[in-house]
Amino acid sequence: MQVSSPSFLEERFEAQRRAFAAESNPPLHVRMDRLNRLLALTENHESDFIRAIDADFGGRSAHETRIAELFVVRAGVRHARNHLKHWISPQRVATGLHFRPGYNRLLRQPLGVVGIVSPWNYPIQLSLGPALAALAAGNRVLLKPSELTPRFSELLDHLVSASFAPDELSVVNGGVDVGQAFTHLPFDHLFFTGSTRVGRQVAQAAAANLTPVTLELGGKSPAIFDASCDIAAAAASIAYGKFLNAGQTCIAPDYVLVPVGLADSVADQLKAAITRLYPTLISNPDYTAIISTRHRNRLLAIREEARDGGARIVEVNPAGERFDEGTRKFPPTLVIGAAASTRLMREEIFGPLLPIIEYDGLDKAIAMVNQGERPLALYWFGRSVANRDRVLNETVSGGVTINDCLWHLAQEAQPFGGVGPSGMGAYHGEWGFRTFSKEKPVFYQARLNGTRLFHPPYGKTFDLMLQLIKRIT
Ligand code: NAD
Repeated sequence: MQVSSPSFLEERFEAQRRAFAAESNPPLHVRMDRLNRLLALTENHESDFIRAIDADFGGRSAHETRIAELFVVRAGVRHARNHLKHWISPQRVATGLHFRPGYNRLLRQPLGVVGIVSPWNYPIQLSLGPALAALAAGNRVLLKPSELTPRFSELLDHLVSASFAPDELSVVNGGVDVGQAFTHLPFDHLFFTGSTRVGRQVAQAAAANLTPVTLELGGKSPAIFDASCDIAAAAASIAYGKFLNAGQTCIAPDYVLVPVGLADSVADQLKAAITRLYPTLISNPDYTAIISTRHRNRLLAIREEARDGGARIVEVNPAGERFDEGTRKFPPTLVIGAAASTRLMREEIFGPLLPIIEYDGLDKAIAMVNQGERPLALYWFGRSVANRDRVLNETVSGGVTINDCLWHLAQEAQPFGGVGPSGMGAYHGEWGFRTFSKEKPVFYQARLNGTRLFHPPYGKTFDLMLQLIKRIT
C-alpha cells in the first residue's frame, strides 16, 4: 500500500474544491453517471475484492464479503438511483395562512468536498456506503480507508482511479498520521466510522475548522432474552449475528442478558446453534479469522482475565481442533458469569467472545443496559409485548432488531447511526443523502402580500393584524 504524503492530500483536496466551485450543483444525469460507475466498479471486480480482503484477514468468508459488503453497497446504489430524482427536487413545505400567497420550498444542495474515514472490519461497505450517499448528494469525495486492510485499500485506490477523475472521487492511503492530517483538512463534512476513542479525536480535529461530523462508532450492544422467548430460536439468531465476521461487527451482540437460572440452558442452545453453523473452524472458509495477531492477542488476554476473575469459559470447538500461535482463527467462546469489572465487560469485545449474564427481573436488565454507555444496537427476544415495549421505551440505543440480529442495518428506508458514545448523525437511503446535503429553506414572497402591515410606524393596523394572526395560528 502506497502511503499518501501530506502534500498529496492537500493537492487532492484543493483539486476537489476547485472542481466543486466549477460545478456546485451537478444535475441528475451527472450524479446518476457517478453512481453507475460506482456500481460497475463493485460488479466488475467482485472476485478481486473478495481475494484482497481474504488476504488482509488471513481468511475472510467470501460469502460474507458478498452479502455484508458488496450486496449492501449495491442495494444502496440501486435505492439511491431509484429515488434520486425525487430527493434532489425542491421539497414542498407547508406555508402558514398569514404568509400566503407566498410559499416555501426546501432546497437540497451539495455541501462541497466530503471526507470519509473508514475502518477495516467491513472495508467495502464502510467506505463505499457513505461515498455513494455523498456522490448522490452531488459532492466531491476523498476517502481514507484503513491501513489494517492494505491489499483492499490499494485495490480500492487503483479501481477508483480507473473509474473516477481524482477531483470527483479519490482514495488516500496511510495509517494514523495520514488519518490525522486528513481529519484536519477543512472539509465541508467529515464522515468517520471507527472506534469511539478515535471518534473523539476526529471530532476535535474537525472542530478547529467547524467542519460538521457524522460519527459512526462502536460500543457494547446488548441482547436481552426475555422470560417469554423461545431460547432455541433466539440462540440461532445470536449465533449468526455474533459470529459473522468472527464477531468483528460494530452491531454484533456484545453480550447476552438472560433470566436468572437460564445461563446454562442458553449456553447449551448457543453451542448447538454455533456447531450447526461452523462444524469445523480452522480451515473452514465460512469462519472468518481475526484481523491481526495484535487483535487476537487482545482477545486472548481479555478471555484470560475473565477466567482469572472466576468466569466459566465454554469454548465451542466442534471438531476439537488445535488453535496454536500460527492461526488467527479464534474459536467461538461463551463466557458465563464474568465480573462487571473485567475488560470483557467494560470494553467493546469486537471478536468471537460472548458473555452470558443472568438478570433477576426486567427492571434489573434495563438498569444494566442503562448503566453502560448508550449502545449502537440492542436486540430483544421474546413474545411479551409489554416487556418488549418497556425495553424499547426505557433504553436508548442507535437501533434495534426485535427477535433477530443485525437486520435493522439493512433497512434502506430507516436511518442507521449511533447515539452518544456510539455515534452521532445517520446515513443509509435518504438519510445518507440528507447527511451530505445542505437543506436550505427558501421562502418565495408573493408580489401582493400583507407583511408590510407589520412595519413601523406601529399603530392600530399593527394591533389589528396581530389579533387576526393570533386567531388563525
Ligand atoms: P479505528 O478508530 O482504530 O480506525 C478507523 C479509521 O480511523 C482508520 O482508517 C484509521 O487509520 C483512522 N485513524 C486512526 N487514528 C486516527 C486519528 N487519530 N485521526 C484520524 N484518523 C485516525 O477503528 P478500527 O479498529 O478500524 O474499527 C473498529 C471500530 O470501528 C470498532 O469500535 C467498531 O465498533 C467501529 N465500527 C463502527 C461502525 C458503525 O457503523 N458505527 C462500523 C464498523 C466499525
